[in-house]
Amino acid sequence: MAVPFSWTETLGAEPLQNGGGLVFLKKGARIYSRAWRFQSKVDWPPVEGVGFLEGATIHVAYRSLSGEPDHEFYHAYCRFELAAGGRTFKCSFIQKATASPKAPLLPGTAQGKIVVEPSSEFQGHVASLEILADSLSLMSVSEENCPVLPLWPSEPKFTVRRNGRAIKLCCSSCLAVFEQKPEVFEIPPMVK
Ligand SMILES: [Zn+2]
Repeated sequence: MAVPFSWTETLGAEPLQNGGGLVFLKKGARIYSRAWRFQSKVDWPPVEGVGFLEGATIHVAYRSLSGEPDHEFYHAYCRFELAAGGRTFKCSFIQKATASPKAPLLPGTAQGKIVVEPSSEFQGHVASLEILADSLSLMSVSEENCPVLPLWPSEPKFTVRRNGRAIKLCCSSCLAVFEQKPEVFEIPPMVK
């Protein structure tokens, strides 16, 4: 079942102008997610992510859906702490929000609350996320793809060793999520 939230970024306890919608969809051991903006000083295309739920915490790695070079660098590792029986969350994140290869990963926080009656905008995003989750769960992932976000090619500089194998991911956000719980994302060894 897809669960929709609205969110705002926060600075300390103060909400900022940047806010939007977000959907979580649980499928097997994984959580699929999509986030987009309502209003923002900076326009940005929707992002999609994959992660997992552990206790009351959801870990998700997101990357931009845009193939535009102006956006495809974007990625984030978000930790959502659910509260009020899953009706609200506090999110802390580390994101790469600028294109420069030397740009630091910037930390931030957000808060969210469940959307009881989703608008047609929400329903459209839910439908897109269900298609993504179905296609990713059917996709056969090779070592050339990131095991967390398989639509992205894996990069040698984001490599982690596990059980004697080198596993390559697409970005530091996927690496962070993978290292929290590798068994959710592990792909079987290639049969030669
Ligand atoms: Zn990645």
